[in-house]
Amino acid sequence: MPRGSNLERVSAFNQAVVLDLVRRSEAGMSRVELIGATGLSTQTVSNIARRLLDLGLILESGKVHVPQGKPRTTLTIDPKSRYAVGAHLDPSMLTFVLLDLAGTVVHRKHLPVEAVAGPEETVARIAAAIEELISETDIPRARVLGVGIAAPGPIEFDQGAVVGPPMLTGWERVELRESLGKATGFPVFLDKDSAAAAHAELWVRDNRSDQNFAFVYLGSGVGAAVVMNGEVVRGSSNNVGEIGHFSTGDGGRLCGCGRTGCLGVSVMPVRLVNDAVSKGVLHGPVDTADLRQVTDHFHKLASLADAGDGKACALLHEAAGRLARAVEDVANLLDVDGIVFGGPSWPPIGNHYLEVLHAALANRLAMGMIHKVELLGSALGEDITAVGAACIVLDHLLAPRSGGLMLE
Ligand SMILES: [Zn+2]
Repeated sequence: MPRGSNLERVSAFNQAVVLDLVRRSEAGMSRVELIGATGLSTQTVSNIARRLLDLGLILESGKVHVPQGKPRTTLTIDPKSRYAVGAHLDPSMLTFVLLDLAGTVVHRKHLPVEAVAGPEETVARIAAAIEELISETDIPRARVLGVGIAAPGPIEFDQGAVVGPPMLTGWERVELRESLGKATGFPVFLDKDSAAAAHAELWVRDNRSDQNFAFVYLGSGVGAAVVMNGEVVRGSSNNVGEIGHFSTGDGGRLCGCGRTGCLGVSVMPVRLVNDAVSKGVLHGPVDTADLRQVTDHFHKLASLADAGDGKACALLHEAAGRLARAVEDVANLLDVDGIVFGGPSWPPIGNHYLEVLHAALANRLAMGMIHKVELLGSALGEDITAVGAACIVLDHLLAPRSGGLMLE
């Protein structure tokens, strides 16, 4: 039910609106521009600017001369005023980033995951790594707003719990948000890996509200997220994008679900590496339970394909062809402007996959006659998910909402 507004709440909301505009404009904004963009009065904008300056969130960063009248002072975000931690729990690797208010990574850290370690031990390791991440910089802990953590889906969003992530032992149902909050003392936000990656992609784009794309996430497994009108679509339980068992056509590998040719088993690094070893493309043996070893071999497979090895190329092309089948359904269902591919397993094989995807989908998309559907690889690299998890913290605490800024 919509709640009534009082003046205090309206003023807190206005403050968040102004900060959001300043935060999203690369060159900064003058008070006059903010008045134009918000419709607020001169006095209100002036008061809000004063308050944000006092909080240290924005800076007066220069003057712009205008043909008539006084030069205008530009207000920009102070990127060093607040920070957020992003963490990515992937079965093969723990990734941590510290992001400033402008979304720049100021420090990062990677740790191996011990698949056999239980959740308690892993949460303690994550908490310790977060403390190290902060203390290795000279940033005061008080400037860190919170921790975002991304994990494989599906998740119990309301409880902040991960539910049986693949390839991790003892993680049948773990209330990660609460336990990490207790261990670190920070507010913690949990989201799915694919949703976090889509957040990161959204953050680096201009004209956010115009964005409509699907994000296809390739990590140890595969997932997707959907962005409509500049927002990550949540679904009824925040689990949009479970595409692991989408069909990729006839044949293909046997999946744990009993069918063959599911998308997950067609593109998972562990299955590709396994095939590469059995076909003599890579030299084994490979311990497929050791995901670090799998990652190393996956990179080797990509390097072989880069060097033109026919068998390595054929393996990757077969996987990309199957991915194209699933992407066709995703694109036709959603009518988006583009499909963005990314995640930790994307960078090594991205170029090979894109070539196949472009060829396979050139004439297969129903809306192709009406508008272009761009297929592109994310520029954000292997740490995209951790970066996105930190963006979720910034978005949650700084975005305009009825409660205003959730900073103090
Ligand atoms: Zn399946």
